[in-house]
Amino acid sequence: MVAKVKFAEYIIMMTSKEAAHSFYNQSLEELSHTLHESGFKQKSADEIFRLVYKRFNPNFEAVDTLSRRTIDFISNHYRFDLPKIVKVQNADDNTVKFLVELADGNQVESVLIPFAKKYTICLSSQVGCAMKCSFCFTGLQGLKRNLEASEIIGQYIVAYKWLRENRPEKIASPNIVFMGQGEPLHNFDQVKKAIEIFLTTEGLHLGFRQITLSTAGYLPGLERFSELPNINLALSLHSPIDEDRNKLIPLNKRYSLEKLFEKLDQIKLLKRQFITYEYLLIKDLNDRDEDITLLNKWLGQRRAIINIIPFNEFPGAPYKRPLTSKVNEFKTKLERLGLTVKVRTTKGSDILAACGQLNTLQSKTL
Ligand code: SF4
Repeated sequence: MVAKVKFAEYIIMMTSKEAAHSFYNQSLEELSHTLHESGFKQKSADEIFRLVYKRFNPNFEAVDTLSRRTIDFISNHYRFDLPKIVKVQNADDNTVKFLVELADGNQVESVLIPFAKKYTICLSSQVGCAMKCSFCFTGLQGLKRNLEASEIIGQYIVAYKWLRENRPEKIASPNIVFMGQGEPLHNFDQVKKAIEIFLTTEGLHLGFRQITLSTAGYLPGLERFSELPNINLALSLHSPIDEDRNKLIPLNKRYSLEKLFEKLDQIKLLKRQFITYEYLLIKDLNDRDEDITLLNKWLGQRRAIINIIPFNEFPGAPYKRPLTSKVNEFKTKLERLGLTVKVRTTKGSDILAACGQLNTLQSKTL
């Protein structure tokens, strides 16, 4: 029957099955188990995963190695719909911001950021965010809901497909940073599952070093960090002083720097692996000599890279960006103390795609 319908109709038919689960919520192991339990060959799961994730083509008619019964079973049990890109904004520096609509009408943003010969994609993990950081657009929305693994993976797939179609010269699989909307450790289980699927050899086959999770310091999630593969970790530090960090990241009132570093020290790092400390540099707030001294106190003896991000002012922002000369001076002083420091070039600032500037409400109105 399926062979007689056109591919587009076939996809619609497959995506409209009410009882079906999103295929993108299934790990290979789970799919394999489901097939086995239902009397199918377990190894068909590998074939199906390759088709869906390597070719981005859930048209199982395209391969002749799957039986008719297997195809019908998969078609009846799973949906293959992806989030819809409803708006694309291109920045002058080739950063691309996507406004993506989920099945329930909620919207999140993801951003493709060019680095050297490839792209990194910044993924959202929640609709809105509960952390209410004072410098962050997203924090203004509050938390609406967690994303499912399928919605996290869906953001990656639609952006990657867009890349293949629109920038075919840069189609290597993008690296991932969980630095979009939401606190990824506050949605631990779904983020964990998405990472597991991203790493699957028969699927997207990313390396664990291609994935970075950035947290504001959500301690209950950090306590579970060792459950994840050895992906990279970034902490939004932003101040070495509790009093100031409380203002920037209210979460710090519950999980102070002392508690945070105690937990971070328990995370096992691989050889040559570091924790990245994001440091949003804000004029007259955290760019003083006192901050340099205390940064050295916290990070001097730790395997740390400090990533300075000069604050991006947005309409109504409560903070100011320091002058470039001040940014450079801050960096040099830290380096003189022996710390490893990078200054992140702000990407996509003309479309508000920089750190802490993702907000679907705002992007519709700007
Ligand atoms: S900076 Fe991150 S953790 Fe803080 S409110 Fe924004 S999205 Fe949430």
